[in-house]
Amino acid sequence: MLYRLRKAGYQAYLVGGCVRDLLLGREPKDFDVVTDAHPEAIRSVFRNCRLVGRRFRLAHVYFGDEVVEVATFRGSASEPQNSGRVLENGRILRDNVYGTIEEDAWRRDFTVNALYYDIGDFSVVDYVGGMEDHRSGTLRLIGEPDARYREDPVRMLRAVRFAGKLGFKLHESCAEPIGRLAGLLRQISPARLYDEVLKLFLSGYAVQTFEQLRHYRLFEALFPATDACLSGENERFPLTFLAKALENTDRRWAEGKPVAPYFLFAALLWEPVRAQTEMRIRQGEANMLALQEVAAEVISRQLGHTAFPRSVGQPMRELWSLQLRFDSRSGGRPFRLINHPRFRAAYDFLLLRAETGEADSELAEWWTRFQAVDEAEQKAMTRETRRKPARRGRRQKKPALKPRPIEP
Ligand code: ATP
Ligand code: MG
Repeated sequence: MLYRLRKAGYQAYLVGGCVRDLLLGREPKDFDVVTDAHPEAIRSVFRNCRLVGRRFRLAHVYFGDEVVEVATFRGSASEPQNSGRVLENGRILRDNVYGTIEEDAWRRDFTVNALYYDIGDFSVVDYVGGMEDHRSGTLRLIGEPDARYREDPVRMLRAVRFAGKLGFKLHESCAEPIGRLAGLLRQISPARLYDEVLKLFLSGYAVQTFEQLRHYRLFEALFPATDACLSGENERFPLTFLAKALENTDRRWAEGKPVAPYFLFAALLWEPVRAQTEMRIRQGEANMLALQEVAAEVISRQLGHTAFPRSVGQPMRELWSLQLRFDSRSGGRPFRLINHPRFRAAYDFLLLRAETGEADSELAEWWTRFQAVDEAEQKAMTRETRRKPARRGRRQKKPALKPRPIEP
């Protein structure tokens, strides 16, 4: 495809993440191509091509299932009077100024993301000292860090993400401003932040990424309700749950298993949901009603920060509700529950809660066994629990969610 553009008389380079990852000997997630051809010209070179993007106009070229992003060199950031660029308080809103390869390099975010691979002579073109930073494992913003973060606050998240993923060290000059500027993330559209959160937590490095986000107070800007719980007095317990959940996410990623975004968000928001539900139950509200009301509230607040679609919100709620239904272990209920479309995910969630001492491990073990045995044995299990003398009367409610254990 690079050759096609060159044959048509244009320059064409690989750029960004794929060059960076190839230099590390890793398989790139996808390939980004840049060229001096304008979008319309790109379209005329490739039949199977669509122009996309509001913020940045670029071409998607399709090869079977694969999409390669082809962008035109962008113009220099130092000329904001350029007509194609729209700024607001120093933040870029739209950016369709075309330029040269060198200008294109300078407006990229990190030096190691601004390396161009030239297929003509198999060389790497470097205007910003990216090769040296790449060699020393340094993640460094191009230009003046403060201004670059203000221009696009999402770069703070990208800094943490790349540092974690590449195992690079964020250069001191780029680390320092983040604590101060983290709040600027609130200006970013919740839809874009949702996409970024998925990349942050579903790329196999969720644990380190989470720690860094907390360290730089970026997590607070993304998940204020959760952050407030984590910073609360009994700090260790909720931290353990989320850390375990993220560990689990990374393990699944390493094994090539999928992690559903709703599962991730259910874990990220569980602590405020759990804490507030527990409080309402203590005030006398019915378990399930309390949980559902709290879930709705927590979700609607969170949508103002990271706007996940309904296809994430709905199953998240179901997964949380099922946590309460695990308590009913007699009669036909366990059989209905096990056939619930969210059972498997909810069970995994229960295991995580049990692992961190927040749910009864006996309960988790019961459900593990219930899935393993045949139907006759299952029936026996549901009768066994029914016979137990501890069968609770309606009024004598057991707290549905265990209070936090006191740390020794
Ligand atoms: P990944 O492996 O996650 O795809 P990537 O570096 O390819 O990493 P992309 O988001 O695909 O990241 O962006 C491709 C390239 O576009 C980056 O390498 C960088 O040069 C440039 N870029 C992307 N986002 C920004 C931004 N917010 N500001 C400046 N340059 C950016
Ligand atoms: Mg990429």
